[in-house]
Amino acid sequence: MRVAVVGAGLGGLCLAQGLRRAGIDVVVYERDFGLDARQQGYRLHIDGRAAQGLQACLPPELYDLFLATASSPSRQVTVVTKQLKPLHRVEFPEPDMSVPARVNTSVDRFVLRTILLAGLEDLVRFGKTFVRYEQDDKDPAGGVRAFFEDGTQDVADVLVGADGVGSRVRGQYLPLARVRDTGDRVLYGKTPLSDERAARLPGMLWDGFAAVVGSRKLGMALGLVRFQERPADAAARLWPAADFEGADSYVMWALSGKGSAFPADGRMRALDGSGLRAIAEDLVSGWHPHLRQLVVGAAPEETFFVGIRTSDPVGPWPTTTVTLLGDAIHAMPPSRGSGANIALKDAGRLCAELTRVAEGGQELLEGIGRYESDMIDYGFTAVRDSLAVARQGGGPVATAASLLSRLTGRRTA
Ligand SMILES: Cc1cc2nc3c(=O)[nH]c(=O)nc-3n(C[C@H](O)[C@H](O)[C@H](O)COP(=O)(O)OP(=O)(O)OC[C@H]3O[C@@H](n4cnc5c(N)ncnc54)[C@H](O)[C@@H]3O)c2cc1C
Repeated sequence: MRVAVVGAGLGGLCLAQGLRRAGIDVVVYERDFGLDARQQGYRLHIDGRAAQGLQACLPPELYDLFLATASSPSRQVTVVTKQLKPLHRVEFPEPDMSVPARVNTSVDRFVLRTILLAGLEDLVRFGKTFVRYEQDDKDPAGGVRAFFEDGTQDVADVLVGADGVGSRVRGQYLPLARVRDTGDRVLYGKTPLSDERAARLPGMLWDGFAAVVGSRKLGMALGLVRFQERPADAAARLWPAADFEGADSYVMWALSGKGSAFPADGRMRALDGSGLRAIAEDLVSGWHPHLRQLVVGAAPEETFFVGIRTSDPVGPWPTTTVTLLGDAIHAMPPSRGSGANIALKDAGRLCAELTRVAEGGQELLEGIGRYESDMIDYGFTAVRDSLAVARQGGGPVATAASLLSRLTGRRTA
């Protein structure tokens, strides 16, 4: 069996790791020219949903590298005013990182993607933009021919669209599936943690995620990425070929709110990182000096602005040899930190089904159908839950409350 994956994002690479481990022929097509073609080094909350997918797909040394380069586990979530006055705080027991289902941590997206690419360098084709595919309408179990912008083609038994929220595979396969703009906007920044800045860091950040209530329209989420082991040291021990040059501890901050809390989209999109940081400085101008200093210290090239989109529920559809995973089918607001977790869970589920097919335990369409029926259920449940939090205002209190209730099973005041 030959599987062609479109998209070397989190889900596509994780699936490719698992398929290669199972001895299945796999190739990945990615439009970017490399992992570092765009700034993507922001913090991702990772929990048991992702860790189980990672453990199922990665060779043990790479799973250990993921654990070693994860941030220190969170022990609390704090909600504060813009003057850093505490409003709520909930502590929870330390997660058990030795059990994938109970992992609860954060990672740097670039570091995780580097781990996911390790050992796959020969099967990931960078600089290849997928355009369309052809499939025999009369034979849903037949092969698929994929076409790329540079005029090349490839034929595979299965085509997986792991090409993110703007998926062209989805656009052709499920043209009625809609992705909507929620109207929410987020301005992200990343502030390196120098010794001097560490000394002035609000104390709560050493123990977990924090949410700042700025105004009715605007809030800020803050999270520290403090690698348990320096990625370069962990790589030397576990996978010497992995290159983590420059990966160091930082604070991620995210100013979030309705679009009206920011200058118009057109203006924001025309700004470079320094211009975006200047907007952020303006937005927090009356806030506590420690928060302002974090914004002022942000790396301009790592400051970016995104509009939040969400997928409308869709499916089930007749199963064929084209399928989808991750944001390509169920994009969701970041309000519950679920998108990457579900994309990695998809990778683990699809890999398990295709492995059973390769071993002769089931037919190809049966395996893809089982994956899709599960994925549609948990994927769109996660979309609905994320949207519900975003609709409560999407602000930091809602986000923190949601996170708290998921981590502790308790409701917060
Ligand atoms: C700032 C930010 C913070 C986030 N925080 C969290 C969090 O804390 N926890 C969490 O779980 N989720 C989080 N998310 C969401 C998470 O990043 C996504 O849900 C996740 O990356 C989806 O993975 P994916 O593999 O489906 O798609 P992606 O990671 O988006 O990968 C898609 C890939 O496909 C490629 N591609 C696209 N079109 C083509 C084409 N035509 N041809 C070839 N290649 C193509 C793209 O270049 C990309 O590499 C966050 C998102 C953002 C933006």
